[in-house]
Amino acid sequence: MSKSNTTTCCYCGVGCGIVVNKDAQNNITVAGDENHPVNRGLLCSKGMNLHYTVNDKSDRLLYPQMRYNKNMPLQRVSWDTALERTAAVFKALIDKHGPDSVAFYASGQCLTEEYYIVNKLIKGFIGSNNIDTNSRLCMSSAVVGYKMSLGEDSVPISYDDIELADCIFVAGANPAWCHPILWRRVEAAKAKNPDLKIIVSDPRRTQTCALADLHLQINPGTDITLHHAIANCLITDGQTDSSFIHQHTNGFEIYQENVLNTSIAEAAAICGITENDIRTAASFIGHAKGFLTMWTMGLNQSVVGTNKNLSLINLNLITGHIGKPGSGPFSLTGQPNAMGGREVGGLSNLLPAHRNLTSEADRNEVETFWKIPLGTIDAKPGLTATEMFDELNSGKLKAIWILCTNPLISLPDVRTAEAGLKKARFVVVQDISNKVETLKYADVVLPAAAWAEKEGTMTNAGRYISHLSKVVDAPEEALPDAEIICRFAKKMGYPGFDFSNPSEIYLEHAALTAGTNIDISGLNYEILKEKRAVQWPYPQNAPPAGTARLFTDFKFHTADKKANIHSFSDENLSERLSPERPLILTTGRIRDQWHTRSKTGKVTKLNQHLSETFLEINPADATARNINDGDLIEVASARGEVRVKAKYSSDIKVGVVFMPMHWGLINNYDLHRVNNLTNNLVDPVSKEPDFKYSAVEVSLY
Ligand code: SF4
Repeated sequence: MSKSNTTTCCYCGVGCGIVVNKDAQNNITVAGDENHPVNRGLLCSKGMNLHYTVNDKSDRLLYPQMRYNKNMPLQRVSWDTALERTAAVFKALIDKHGPDSVAFYASGQCLTEEYYIVNKLIKGFIGSNNIDTNSRLCMSSAVVGYKMSLGEDSVPISYDDIELADCIFVAGANPAWCHPILWRRVEAAKAKNPDLKIIVSDPRRTQTCALADLHLQINPGTDITLHHAIANCLITDGQTDSSFIHQHTNGFEIYQENVLNTSIAEAAAICGITENDIRTAASFIGHAKGFLTMWTMGLNQSVVGTNKNLSLINLNLITGHIGKPGSGPFSLTGQPNAMGGREVGGLSNLLPAHRNLTSEADRNEVETFWKIPLGTIDAKPGLTATEMFDELNSGKLKAIWILCTNPLISLPDVRTAEAGLKKARFVVVQDISNKVETLKYADVVLPAAAWAEKEGTMTNAGRYISHLSKVVDAPEEALPDAEIICRFAKKMGYPGFDFSNPSEIYLEHAALTAGTNIDISGLNYEILKEKRAVQWPYPQNAPPAGTARLFTDFKFHTADKKANIHSFSDENLSERLSPERPLILTTGRIRDQWHTRSKTGKVTKLNQHLSETFLEINPADATARNINDGDLIEVASARGEVRVKAKYSSDIKVGVVFMPMHWGLINNYDLHRVNNLTNNLVDPVSKEPDFKYSAVEVSLY
């Protein structure tokens, strides 16, 4: 007899509902949940193959392991031994070097309950803000963009706005591959309404462009110039919403002066597109009754990522397209629970429920709730993702606890990060896989439960919170991540971690949101299981499906309730090209792999799509270097090199090359790893790395 459970896909930020069936041998099968409001039964290739990743236990970490010094091999120990030793080392380091000598590096794939517990542990009890996640690498520019424009990190739209829009501007994103089920909805909307205009800006002609009415194949790093030029056209042609601007925004006059400073001809030359392209985009937007902007890493992963975000959100503000059906700025979250992590304050500069770390009143509210002395939470932001590895290198950071992520593939300038990990006094790795590169440097290894082996919640790109069921037991001694952290906190002697199940953690998190703009105090697991997914806020007595759209009264979360239109230069501050390194390297995802391949890499069907990494290069750039399609080539930057095959493509702009982000070490050979090449520049505000622009040269190997 099989048992059926509803859950949520653990890959991208779309957050599709899944029904899991289990047989008598504990093997599972998956199918799309037809009752789920997000995907209505559909799944993409990654989601529909999730059962293979659960049924195949051959690569799983099964027992805690430990070593007493770096020269010893890891050996199996009990949970108590592993956690007691970790607690002893953490206590000794904190006593000698202070709480900022330790750090937790987590993941946008952690469940909300896990995020909540880690955040509470380090900010409330250890007394440091050194908690950051790989969401820093993907969404932090969008967080800052929303906060600066709208007063808070709030995605204002509903997925249902897709069908209500008549113009969608996709900037620096390839949702056809990276958010496939959401894109199916756009395709269906376009099929139903051929007048729906779709604009895509991207230096590569991706699968997403197949649906576009207009592809703006801009030069990398010129997004702000493009957005300013579109604004210039809208203002000049009288297609802004003057009444909305006047009543509900600040900053328009300076912005207008700024964007009118550059002519459309100049902007077109900088962007590498035609004037007509810019005017056509502006005309589509100007005539739209519903206008959605969608974006992801092309804007976020930039040394000017905050300004790229603001420049796009400005287009929604000057046209009054926010808080209305079919309209709004919609950042496509890369990871499944980057949003949930932000809700619990799971970054080094945040507090739970979008409270401000710098506000004493906000800190005191959290301290009172956690029953800790006022003044415990440090006002100073902790180390961000890249800063943690810098400070391991400098020796200031002594210990790092890495959970649910593989920084030795995903961090920029990864060899420098690896050098930092090598220098670390103490490394804890909490993971599901016995293949992650970080294990080489681990002093303690903690085996974690995987998807379908633990219960919790996640929040997707549209503020939809959904529940994940535990369907099967974790193998051998692997434990859910939240339980591991709670056990450790108790070994440290901290109160406040005595939860008997994840539902209790969720209720504590929900109670802490009461009275805030993201109030979910009316939610619990029973409601989530019944509704499948609801959008926050969901206070007591909320409408059954939550809050579809924010800012419908045009009152924003700023002090004067007006949205802010920001002005700034369009200069790109990325690494400079040179005669030695004249090509721009951009990195990204492919359709059937996820992150560092610890799950998707073990599914044969998914590996068949693109079975090995490659460098996509325009034939003009390749032939100028005597490189044929399929040749083994070396790509070199100022940081390092990789050796991969050349893949000809006329879909990529001349002067630009692309490599997938997914591949790491294979048998200790690191020359497939694109982050050997990327640079360590970050946006000064969001601290998000500049993955989309590194200076490289390519030669035949
Ligand atoms: Fe999972 Fe995203 Fe695919 Fe949906 S679109 S099945 S959430 S990977």
